[in-house]
Amino acid sequence: MHDESELGFASLAIRSGQIRTSESEHCEPIFPTSSFVFQSAAQAEARFAEREAGNLYSRFTNPTVRTFQDRLAALEGGEACIATASGMAAILSTCLALLRTGDHIVSSSSLFGSTVSLFTNYLSKFGIATSYVPLTDLPAWEAAIRPGQTKMLYLETPSNPLMEIADIRALAEMAHAHGCFLVVDNCFCTPVLQRPLKLGADLVIHSATKYLDGQGRCIGGAVVGDAQRVGKDVFAFLRTAGPTLSPFNAWVFLKGLETLKLRVRAHSENALQLARWLEKLPSVAKVYYPGLTSHPQHDLACRQQSGFGGIVSFEVHGDRETAWRVVDSTQMISITANLGDAKTTITHPATTTHGRLTQAERDAAGIRDNLLRISVGLEEIADIQADLQRSLG
Ligand SMILES: *Cc1c(COP(=O)(O)O)cnc(C)c1O
Repeated sequence: MHDESELGFASLAIRSGQIRTSESEHCEPIFPTSSFVFQSAAQAEARFAEREAGNLYSRFTNPTVRTFQDRLAALEGGEACIATASGMAAILSTCLALLRTGDHIVSSSSLFGSTVSLFTNYLSKFGIATSYVPLTDLPAWEAAIRPGQTKMLYLETPSNPLMEIADIRALAEMAHAHGCFLVVDNCFCTPVLQRPLKLGADLVIHSATKYLDGQGRCIGGAVVGDAQRVGKDVFAFLRTAGPTLSPFNAWVFLKGLETLKLRVRAHSENALQLARWLEKLPSVAKVYYPGLTSHPQHDLACRQQSGFGGIVSFEVHGDRETAWRVVDSTQMISITANLGDAKTTITHPATTTHGRLTQAERDAAGIRDNLLRISVGLEEIADIQADLQRSLG
């Protein structure tokens, strides 16, 4: 076998973690089995007592799931990865494994809606409080940390849908100075564009549902980090509570990882072209994309990321009706809130992903009624532009 430590990113994405069985298959097999058999009573005893490594039961040991975990850990540069049934299950598992009653979270306010709901409506029931701060306001992060009580700093960068960029290195240093750990949801960038662990973050969250799959087929998630917190603590929670990824979904994500670098680069190229084109249209008031020099954190994005990703948001001159007309006049682009798909999608955040916020909360978050978000797909850029040109041109 080759020495994996010498392989580059694209090679790891294709080769890492695979263990060929005695059938000599070329493609990674799917193991659709709930349990595994032992050679003897003594072996069963040794496996259950964790004296012998090996498969037991697919709630927490399945070879296809393990291959996906090992490959994603290699790509993020982490010691361990635990795959879960969804991105939300990865966040829940991380919090329940690593936090306890009385602990406090400081989180960026611009988060995926269900993550806010999980922190605010559910963790609070168990005595875990969350303070929200603006993603880019470092003094606000520092001020929100409660000595001895704050355990976790949590963020997404770039943020959804306004594509603001957090300074991961600065926030990791701040977290460690206060005895906290930093969790970064790396869904938008994927390890192709950003490696939070290398910048000092402690844990990385993924919704594999998005770019890791990349073709809108399966729900899944993962957490990547060190051998203790992820390999032992999150694993123990998964083993007990069972928010487990199915082997079929793990296999789909494995196939997704093989083309991740090519796809994310192509998404980023299409998105940059679209953002530059939108910025020149008289009907467009403002474009939010970190690859544009007009973006307030463009320099930070250049330092921290190796590309700018596939999400472009923009405001039209007008109101909600004007924005809805842009959505409704598309013919090829899909009207859906999902993202990270080969198919380009368009959504009106104020009435979909951010529709449960009050008007005041939306105003505070900068989610205006004339804002649209596009997850730029892999179709020809000319066709994407032509579809938007109908109402914007
Ligand atoms: C979709 C998403 C999630 C949740 O993932 P699911 O797989 O839908 O549970 C978490 N964070 C971000 C940034 C997302 O886009």
